[in-house]
Amino acid sequence: MKNVLEVKDLHVSFHTYAGEVKAVRGVDFSVGQGETVAIVGESGCGKSVTAKSIMRLLPSPPVQYKQGTIEFQGKNIFDVPEKEMQRIRGNQISMIFQDPMTSLNPTSKIGSQIMEAVLKHNDISKKAAAEKAIDMLKLVGIPQPDKRVNQYPHEFSGGMRQRAMIAMALACNPRLLIADEPTTALDVTIQAQILELMKKIQKETGTSIILITHDLGVVAEMADRVVVMYAGQVAETGTVKDLFANPQHPYTMGLLNSIPRLDMDKSQPLSPIIGTPPDLIEPPKGCPFFARCQYAMRVCKNHDPELDEVRSNQFAACWLHHPMAQKRASV
Ligand code: SF4
Ligand code: MG
Repeated sequence: MKNVLEVKDLHVSFHTYAGEVKAVRGVDFSVGQGETVAIVGESGCGKSVTAKSIMRLLPSPPVQYKQGTIEFQGKNIFDVPEKEMQRIRGNQISMIFQDPMTSLNPTSKIGSQIMEAVLKHNDISKKAAAEKAIDMLKLVGIPQPDKRVNQYPHEFSGGMRQRAMIAMALACNPRLLIADEPTTALDVTIQAQILELMKKIQKETGTSIILITHDLGVVAEMADRVVVMYAGQVAETGTVKDLFANPQHPYTMGLLNSIPRLDMDKSQPLSPIIGTPPDLIEPPKGCPFFARCQYAMRVCKNHDPELDEVRSNQFAACWLHHPMAQKRASV
């Protein structure tokens, strides 16, 4: 599988009055063609900052890209001039957000907004763009698309606005769609419909998806591979199947133990992960999960573990997998 995106050793900081927040600290992952990669983790773990860095959407300053590369179709986006970046945004990489009102303009008709996106990136007539707008609304399952194109966002329900935003994001056939908590604000029925829709469109268009979420149910439903982030770093990464069946990092295990499962005995209590993530202004020296980890060893306190392949195609940053640690604990 050819990679559409390769993120290598990404470090992103932002400056606050309290000091420099090291939000992303050496993140590596890739996304193959037509693949869905989920980035999961608690809020503040750096998943949204990572996603927005791919679009180069963060204001700099206060944000500073410290180190690393983001290669999109073989080109480091940090080397791309802003003018070209504007062409890439929306055309080759699109983003959908939790709140559609952040991307939809309340004062402009839905159809005009989709047309605008299409016309900006394609050399086609207005008439063709108008037809494309109707086609896109139809594709995302909006009833009576020829009438709905002439309506304003406030005339749409929450679920329909989300569909309209997806229509807009997909209007230019992006190679990569970044969806940041796309269904968090929706009720479960609509959520299921939107996820189904994203899957269907992916099948039809072959677009790659980065799905940012804290919802492991959504991950299980949608993703091929998962990147678990903790305190600005990758704690574990692997296929959805491996990660859910054989989590190798105590943080991933904690995440999985904190959600209800069908095969679970109802009397079995859920166990949330106790404690809070570390301060990223002064990140701890050793493993960032040390203070919350029930398997913590002496080595973990002072030495940050590397992300190593611990099973076939499954990587974890944890000292438990070091040969010296095997006598002490097994996972
Ligand atoms: Fe726990 Fe140590 Fe592994 Fe960190 S490196 S997750 S503290 S066992
Ligand atoms: Mg976020």
